[in-house]
Amino acid sequence: MRIILLGAPGSGKGTQAKFIIDKYRIPYISIGDILRQETIKNNFLSKKIKYIIDSGKLIPDNLIMIILKRELKKNNYYNKFLLDGIPRTIFQAKLIKYLHITHVLKFIIPKKLILKRLSGRLIHIKSGRVYHKIFNPPKNFQIDDITGEKLVIRNDDNTKIIKKRLYEYYSTEKIITHFYKKEAYLKNLKFLNIDATLSINIIHKIIQDFLKN
Ligand code: AMP
Repeated sequence: MRIILLGAPGSGKGTQAKFIIDKYRIPYISIGDILRQETIKNNFLSKKIKYIIDSGKLIPDNLIMIILKRELKKNNYYNKFLLDGIPRTIFQAKLIKYLHITHVLKFIIPKKLILKRLSGRLIHIKSGRVYHKIFNPPKNFQIDDITGEKLVIRNDDNTKIIKKRLYEYYSTEKIITHFYKKEAYLKNLKFLNIDATLSINIIHKIIQDFLKN
């Protein structure tokens, strides 16, 4: 299985990604997580990446492809993986054609719910684990369940930047969806629209049924 997750920020991709990789034991590549880990390093590139992320814009395609290829090579992922956060542009979608994606899951959520979900989101930077203060709280207040380390609120999870991120998402959403629907029609690729307003457990079930086939 070579899976891609599409969906607006806050649509629950990260939460479902964790479920899929645990259940099917496939490697996970979250470009956002990798970029955030880069920002911890204190060099010119990491500062540039942090600046772009914190302003809600997209990292240039060539840098994304370097990071993705480095990650794929490092772990010999080529036969099975779950990609989260890519493609964000049609150019990226074309550049990753060589990976022969088998499944695309698209999370659909109304805009008004996104703000509600993103305000209250907590993350564990090193692992990328995602929580929500109300919908999916950690066992202990602002502490990661697994490592016991502190959880943080992402710098880009504030209303002003969320609006910019949504603008970026919706400006390419249709063309990327169309690209994969066409691939699904022409090739051996399966595409699923998921109602991201459903509960976490119901979505688990929908995904399991889809991946079973
Ligand atoms: P995410 O964790 O997926 O919400 O990504 C956080 C931020 O990382 C985005 O707002 C972008 O600034 C950057 N980013 C993540 N993935 C990509 C990508 N495929 N192309 C460009 N920028 C990206």
